[in-house]
Amino acid sequence: MTYELLPDHTGIRCLLCGSVSYCANDVRQRYCGRCSRFHEDKILEARWFLREALMALRPDLSHAESNALAEALLLAASPEHAPRGTLPQWSAQWRAAD
Ligand SMILES: [Zn+2]
Repeated sequence: MTYELLPDHTGIRCLLCGSVSYCANDVRQRYCGRCSRFHEDKILEARWFLREALMALRPDLSHAESNALAEALLLAASPEHAPRGTLPQWSAQWRAAD
């Protein structure tokens, strides 16, 4: 689970980035505007599991650092799943070198 609904279901908190949205559409569609992802997205779940594993292995890392590393691992494994327009430059260069 990568999100939690507020007790009265008037908002949705993203457990990946911590942002809370009170937009009815975001709540209904289980969407995080900051991550630009739907929470049913399997990629988002994979990022969640990767981040949990990273934080267990490296407790010295901050949430933001673990998130960034998990995102980088996912993009390296499946760059086609990057949200449109967010594929980092280094990843594109890396693919071109294959
Ligand atoms: Zn988020």
